[in-house]
Amino acid sequence: MTIYNFSAGPAVLPKEVLQQAQTEMLDWHGSGMSVMEMSHRGKEYMGIQAQAEADLRELMGIPANYKVLFLQGGASQQFAMVPLNLLRGKLSADYVNTGEWSKKAISEAKKFSYVNVVANNADKNGSYVPTFDSWKLDKNAAYLHYTPNETIGGVEFNWLPSTGNVPLVADMSSNILSRAVDVSKFGLIYAGAQKNIGPAGLTIVIVREDLIGHPPSGLPTMLDYKTHADNDSMYNTPPTYGIYIAGLVFQMLKRKGGIAQMEKTNIEKAKLLYAAIDGSNGFYHCPVATSDRSRMNVPFTLKDADLDGDFLKQAEARGLLQLKGHRSVGGMRASIYNAMPLEGVQALVNFMNEFSRSKG
Ligand SMILES: *Cc1c(COP(=O)(O)O)cnc(C)c1O
Repeated sequence: MTIYNFSAGPAVLPKEVLQQAQTEMLDWHGSGMSVMEMSHRGKEYMGIQAQAEADLRELMGIPANYKVLFLQGGASQQFAMVPLNLLRGKLSADYVNTGEWSKKAISEAKKFSYVNVVANNADKNGSYVPTFDSWKLDKNAAYLHYTPNETIGGVEFNWLPSTGNVPLVADMSSNILSRAVDVSKFGLIYAGAQKNIGPAGLTIVIVREDLIGHPPSGLPTMLDYKTHADNDSMYNTPPTYGIYIAGLVFQMLKRKGGIAQMEKTNIEKAKLLYAAIDGSNGFYHCPVATSDRSRMNVPFTLKDADLDGDFLKQAEARGLLQLKGHRSVGGMRASIYNAMPLEGVQALVNFMNEFSRSKG
């Protein structure tokens, strides 16, 4: 039976990447070593990391005046590193609150700064993106932070905030590499790897050079972007195996036509799934405003929550795994990241149609 894994993260990885890693597991390119066993200062590993960075730069079109950092600590550590490094003596930062991950970023930033929440979607239970004309921006803010894709609520921006001279900071953990973005419009982008890139344990930061090097006094060395930028992410031991797998994913994306091709497939996958939900005569329901629905994380409920257990059991029996919704919202959530093939979404839709017919 073919298994399709709809987990929100850690999430499905491309089969061909896992197969390549398997082939190279005991002996990487005739080195006689597994990548896991290599010194991070050796020429083999340094080549792997340099290639991964070059491929990511090419895929995303990252301009030369941006640093790419391979860090640890997850996106959650960036909730602190962003204010610590980017306040640069300023007193206030702008944050957009569009859901659970925004809230966590905001509460961490409040430890270091005054936080101006420019917009908030709590009035409709986090189900939409507030329009830009309603945002209460502060032109003296140190930066503006937002979450382009809310992994739990399934709310995604399909437009870019325009913040003038205020650096734009994005937590792209769950939609990086899924759609084209103009990196030059951002001051800083960060993403935990375990959704759309590779294994857990790696965090990628893309940061404009002029924003680095203004630490508050007493900033721990490991929390200073400059430490990592000045040492090509090798101040200490980087998460070598995760970077290697991420590098294999980047090469696969290049072979498959890059981000533009991924985006096309992602649009097709999302259309198919939302059409099944909306065409179910109310048997399934997605609470998110149509224009702000995520292409990556699709939350939906069944008209009768008593059917949830049966739905999950039958789905699992068909190899459709990890569809249970986040504990804070209930219902279902199908995460359909880059590595989820169209056939997986088709299999889910076929099952949903049959299930609703059998219970409707
Ligand atoms: C998963 C996720 C996080 C948390 O990532 P960790 O790597 O577990 O710290 C933060 N933001 C978003 C948008 C996420 O999807």
